[in-house]
Amino acid sequence: MAGLEEAGSEEPGRSGPRLSRRLETLSGSGIRRFFDIMASMEDVISLSIGEPDFVTPWPIRDAAIRSIEAGHTHYTSNYGLMELREQLAGHLDRLYGLRYDPTNELLITSGVSEALDVAMRAIVDPGDEVILPDPSYVAYGPAISLAGGAPVAVRTVASEGFALSYAAVADAVTEKTRALLLGFPANPTGAVMPPEALARIAQLAVDRDLVVISDEIYDRLVYGVEHVPIATLPGMKERTFTLGGFSKDYAMTGWRIGYLGAPARLLEGVMKIHQYVMMSAPTAAQYAAIEALRSGEEHVVMMREEYDRRRRLMVQGFNAVGLPCVEPHGAFYAFPSIAGTGMDDETFAERLLLEERVAVVPGSAFGPGGAGHVRACYATSYEDIEKALERIGRFLQSGSSGK
Ligand code: PLP
Repeated sequence: MAGLEEAGSEEPGRSGPRLSRRLETLSGSGIRRFFDIMASMEDVISLSIGEPDFVTPWPIRDAAIRSIEAGHTHYTSNYGLMELREQLAGHLDRLYGLRYDPTNELLITSGVSEALDVAMRAIVDPGDEVILPDPSYVAYGPAISLAGGAPVAVRTVASEGFALSYAAVADAVTEKTRALLLGFPANPTGAVMPPEALARIAQLAVDRDLVVISDEIYDRLVYGVEHVPIATLPGMKERTFTLGGFSKDYAMTGWRIGYLGAPARLLEGVMKIHQYVMMSAPTAAQYAAIEALRSGEEHVVMMREEYDRRRRLMVQGFNAVGLPCVEPHGAFYAFPSIAGTGMDDETFAERLLLEERVAVVPGSAFGPGGAGHVRACYATSYEDIEKALERIGRFLQSGSSGK
């Protein structure tokens, strides 16, 4: 492969053209390797995939089918269907008192994935620092790097419920800090920000004139606590990109639909990118999303109750087998410590998969702060979680740590 110093010397006959230098700093997702091993095995219980096991509720699917039957197969407005933006504006206002003007403050995107990319590219200049929690969702660091920014990771720890500490964030802010990238409820820890800490971090953003990109894709999946969009705090709406979605709350991962809320001036900047790279979010998915907002609430409540039942089983189960697990109050992940087993998280995950056919994700896939933990997703059936816990108990009892 061509080295950096050989930039420009393409050798099609031998190794083909080189890829961009930007890519050289990016490593592949650590999760994928486990999927590959898993695909070659039978009878695996997977706690590794971060998506709902529920199929999208029928009325939502039906709305998309009907839209196709009616011939709605064209591009929509770059912003997305007005009816969807209006529904969404009403939804956010009703739930959180978060007010966005559907005409120019809401953009329908191809998932939060796209929203994250376009928001980042709209605000980051080369060398700008963006603060993010460690551990955090695997796409955050790459989204910052691909936009030319420098990710600055701030540790979160189990003893603080993996919430972001105001003091740690304040310490990390420099003259170069441009933005904070927040993701709460959190993947992979299930953490929710305590309201006081969130308010202090918001004040810091105001004082230091920082942009906040807030990924709130798990907003409806909270258990016994309330979700507070950071944009609703004083002085925050004008400096916040609120990223939200349908993938998790409504079990719509495959539809590729989400949204971005921001003040008109910022959204106009984002639109300059979105219109060229995406044009508009998938049209059938937009019709499905309208239905999700119109009639999906009972399904959200049902799925959340079921996740909560599984969450309690899993947290209690991990603690019972000797893997200390702080209670996650959001999303659908538990993040127990495996440090006491004497194995590192990669070894633990690999051996658990090979020896007991249970797939979890090593915590270090989410950043160095995740080392010594594994992520287990409880968006899988109650019975499978019971079986997985049994297998994990057997794995630990077999003296696995000494092998
Ligand atoms: N943000 C977080 C925190 C996630 O966990 C995921 C998916 O796992 C995404 C964003 C991707 O969302 P979408 O399906 O809307 O692109």
